[in-house]
Amino acid sequence: MTELQRRLAQPLTKSARPLASTAPACQACGSSELESFYELRNVPAHSCLLLPTRQEALAFPRGDIELVFCHDCGFIGNVRFDIGLNQYSAAYEETQAFSPRFLRFLDEICNDQIRKFGLGPGVTALEIGCGKGEFLTTLCELSGCSGIGIDPGYRPERNRSTAAGRMQFIVDLYGPRYAHLQAEYVSCRHTLEHIAPVQDFVRLVRETIGNRHHVNVFFELPDMERVLEQGIFWDIYYEHCTYFTRGSLARLFRAEGFDVQGLYKAYDGQYLMVEAKPAGGPTAATLPQEADLASTAALVKKFKAEHDSRLGEIAAAASRWRQAGKQVAIWGSGSKCVSLISSLQLGDELQAIVDINPHKHGKFLAGSGREIVGPDALTTLRPDAVIIMNSIYTEEIRHELATRGLQPELLPLA
Ligand SMILES: [Zn+2]
Repeated sequence: MTELQRRLAQPLTKSARPLASTAPACQACGSSELESFYELRNVPAHSCLLLPTRQEALAFPRGDIELVFCHDCGFIGNVRFDIGLNQYSAAYEETQAFSPRFLRFLDEICNDQIRKFGLGPGVTALEIGCGKGEFLTTLCELSGCSGIGIDPGYRPERNRSTAAGRMQFIVDLYGPRYAHLQAEYVSCRHTLEHIAPVQDFVRLVRETIGNRHHVNVFFELPDMERVLEQGIFWDIYYEHCTYFTRGSLARLFRAEGFDVQGLYKAYDGQYLMVEAKPAGGPTAATLPQEADLASTAALVKKFKAEHDSRLGEIAAAASRWRQAGKQVAIWGSGSKCVSLISSLQLGDELQAIVDINPHKHGKFLAGSGREIVGPDALTTLRPDAVIIMNSIYTEEIRHELATRGLQPELLPLA
């Protein structure tokens, strides 16, 4: 293990001692101006890792969340995060590529990236943390470019692409040992939020590019501004140890030698996108949306109140269903669902957890030990209400239910 690899594998803090006695530094800028603002104890350490039995799911390791806000750069991180509790492997089931709405979005961003950065034959695209490879594969199929994907959870047997001959997948975590992989386009989607030492990671990406100043870099990750603003507590979970807004993400990229050229939100404002080019050194902010430090600090102050209000609304609905003897299903078994179940303490009224990803059926959710079923199971279960974990899929789910003759009450969450 090299020094950088060792640092990338380090937790933010090693113990669960009070924040005041550990005085951790911001993982994005090194500042000690950190404010603790949200705590959640004893949550499942993984929410996308599927367990084959209920016993294993119930016995799954748990960890604590304590979010801190950096007053100098706006970064938010979980200082209780312990990398030792996280294991990414082929059993990690994060893909959303069974949803038509999601596949449409994937096509849209691929076409947008191809157009913006001139991807095509003869160009190599590298994707760090490529998951099951959907983005890279779509990029290669649509543009004719070549691709290199790196991810410990990649499953080669699932990729039947016509572009397979131009793609190479490495089943591993990205690190300095892959610095030799050169590409004209570097993407990293929904990965940075799983990495605690974010400054080291962005620095490594910048070092890998070196003086090849023509390289384009694209990162996509959840947007924290929306979570803070609306108190969307189910978007905060153990696997996500770091959280960014447009401003904090741009500040990190600029400090590490990138020029930020594009900075925007996508997917109904849920995702944050940054497009950057390597620069000779740190760069100064030029985009109006980067100036969000004061507004983020204000959102952090009122997050707890927003959180309590959202939790109260959902708990009231759950209590109403319980009293009326109604049966409830949750549609969407990902991290948001695991987080909601932990916070809400749903009991017998929760009848089923549904997911359209067939690879999840018959497996169990870490923490609650609930089994995941396919939509067809609802034909016999006939739930009275369905909680939709991501409102962007509401119409798709309403349609899936209707084709099975079901019209339950729907509760779409933000
Ligand atoms: Zn900072």
